[in-house]
This record gives sequence, C-alpha cells and structure tokens, in this order.
Amino acid sequence: MALAQTKPPSSNSRPGDSGRKLILVVEDEADIRELLRFNLEQEGFAVIGAEDGEQALEAVQSQRPALVILDLMLPGIPGLEVCRRIRSQAATEHLPIVILTAKAAEADRIVGLEMGADDYLTKPFSPRELIARIRAVMRRSYGPETERPSEIYQKGRLRIDFDNYEVVLDGRKIDLSLREFELLRFFVRSPNRVFDRLQILDLVWGQDTHVEPRTVDVHIRRLRKRIERDDAHPELILTVRGVGYKFNDRALAP
Ligand code: CA
Repeated sequence: MALAQTKPPSSNSRPGDSGRKLILVVEDEADIRELLRFNLEQEGFAVIGAEDGEQALEAVQSQRPALVILDLMLPGIPGLEVCRRIRSQAATEHLPIVILTAKAAEADRIVGLEMGADDYLTKPFSPRELIARIRAVMRRSYGPETERPSEIYQKGRLRIDFDNYEVVLDGRKIDLSLREFELLRFFVRSPNRVFDRLQILDLVWGQDTHVEPRTVDVHIRRLRKRIERDDAHPELILTVRGVGYKFNDRALAP
C-alpha cells in the first residue's frame, strides 16, 4: 500500500502543538498503522505509532496520549493484556481505548465487559467510520468542546483559527465581528465559486432569518474594509456583476 511510505510532515507532532489531541496507534502492521495515521492527521489529530505492546505501554506513560487505538493481535504482549495494564494504572485507568480487531464478536465482549475498552473498529474499516468512532469516544470522554480538533485555515497571507476566531492577514491580527468572521469562513471554504445574495443569506445567516438581501452587501463592504488592501478595488471578495460574489483565493499569494 502506497500510504505506508507517505509520512506527512506533521507525523511527530506532540499534544502541545497547537492543542491537537494526541492519538497513540498500536498496530504491528505498518500499512494499517500508516493508514490510520494518515486519516487521523487529515482530521487534525496528532498521531504516534507503536508496533507492539511494550512500545505501547511505554508510549502511554511517556507521551500521555488522549486516546489509544489498540490492535488485539500483537507480537509480544497481546492487545488484551495491554488494555488490562492501562486500566490497572491509576494515571491511565480512564484513558479512552478503541480496540482494532478482525473479529467483531470478540471485540463486543472486550468493549462490553471484561477489559473496559470504550469502543472497537472491525478490520477492514472505512476512514469515515474510524473518524466517527474516535470522535464519539472523544466526546464521551472529554466533553463536546474537545470533540473536534482545532481547525486552522492557512493559505498564503491568510491564517484563520476557526476555534479561536482569530484571523491573521499579512502577519497582522484582524478584528472581525462575529458575522464578518462567519462570512469570511464561508468564503474561504468555498473559494472561486459564485454565490448570489440569497444563497449567501441562506448559508451564512440561515434560512429562518428575515434579513434583506441588501444586508449581505453591507457586511461584505465591511469585511472588505478589513481584509482588502484597497477596498475600492477588492482582490479577495470579487463582485460578479449581475450575479453576486466570489472569493478569489489566488489573491492570497504573498
Ligand atoms: Ca496485528
């Protein structure tokens, strides 16, 4: 599998790095380990890997992951024993564990009773299922705020921290009202696509509001004042005459 060779640059991220939650992947098969790593990193988690039970227990102590994905069939100390030892230590007795196994029936038993794992994934699993399970366990263990890893948009001159409502453009922090921020978020997520005012109203303000389409123009004018180099000649939020607006992310090049 090609993914085994692809190590994204953020592989060695630690939990301190921009507050990303650290997940320990315990799996002796390199292909599956890298597949998990790739998908979890795509979702904004930091990931470390362990090839066997001994490495896993060492990493649990030294790295303090927020969650462990644990294969049952491991060389050396078996996955079940790893699970038991994690549960038997006061410091890690509540550490969320998601079991990875080819045998769903076996996992049911482990999750349900004896070993107290939080959930399981049956091989082969889909990335979507993996992420959904991990998020659900995170939510149960750490509360709804920690469910989603912090989300950052970075392109050229613009950086947006969606969780902290922070916008930095050309190295300077930009203050936006909540609505301006939502409007900018909407645009950067759908770049180079034309939207008319009614669509923008629906997508940013929501369908239940009684706001005039003109309001969109007012807010776009304000947003331009904050983010355009020259708001009389906008480069980022372009007017498409007779239709609406589009976000030109090419103008973010430094
Ligand atoms: Ca295995």
